[in-house]
This record gives sequence, C-alpha cells and structure tokens, in this order.
Amino acid sequence: MPTYDFLCNCGHRFERFLRSYKSANPDCEVCARPTSRVPSRVAMLGAASIPEGDTYAPKSFEGTANGNRELIAIWQRKLETRRKFEEKHPEHKTTREAIAAHEGAFENNPLTYRELASRAEKTGDATAAAAEASRDRGVKAVPKKDVNL
Ligand SMILES: [Zn+2]
Repeated sequence: MPTYDFLCNCGHRFERFLRSYKSANPDCEVCARPTSRVPSRVAMLGAASIPEGDTYAPKSFEGTANGNRELIAIWQRKLETRRKFEEKHPEHKTTREAIAAHEGAFENNPLTYRELASRAEKTGDATAAAAEASRDRGVKAVPKKDVNL
C-alpha cells in the first residue's frame, strides 16, 4: 500500500497508508482537523514516475492549508516539474491551468500556480506573492481572518 503524507491547517504533518490514491484524507492525528495531502518524502525520491499534474493540486485557499508556505512551495515545485515533463512529452499535456485560489479576492479572477510562481520568482515568498495578487485585484481583505498573509 502506498504511503502518503498529510498536513493539517495547524501544520501537523504525519504519514499514513492509504488503500488507494482516491481514498479520503484522514483527519489530523493530533488536532483532528481536516488535512491536505502532500507528496511523501519517499515518493519524491522515485524519479522514474510521471510527475503529478494539477489533478491533485489544491484548488482552494483551504486546500493549501490556508496558505501554508510549505504546501504551496511543494506544489509550485511539483507543477514546475510537471511542466518540464510536458515540454518533453507533449502527449501528457494537460490544458487546464492549476488554480491555487479561487475564493475571496480570486472569485472572479482565479489565482493560478503559474501566476503565483511568476510573482514569487523574485522574492521566493509565495505567501507574500498571494497577498500581492490579492491586492492587485483590488480586494483588501484576505480570504480568512486567521490567515497570516
Ligand atoms: Zn493538526
């Protein structure tokens, strides 16, 4: 059975066996909150596999564990790896753009990982880049009160 890593909104990280990739994410072992799946450290060593596309990329701000820096950075790397893979192997190309956030400020103009990555290129700070993208859309409020943007 494959092992997956999970990250909860408070940042607890743990490993769990799942019957299949489609199995529901378990709640956090420590605080019982919902979790997001992150690439297992073991799986990332398996370079022979086809890099994951956007199918399992978080589609909402909550899906990124409320803007968790580590999780966003992981997905940026994964999608960049996938993009390079698609350049070499166009038959695997997906046309849909991966959406990093589509709520709050991004409701009418979703934030894609492509935009997030290009905004974070200089600073390397995805959280600041997301806040900047939000400001540029003319919306002052951050999606959630407890978000540390
Ligand atoms: Zn937790």
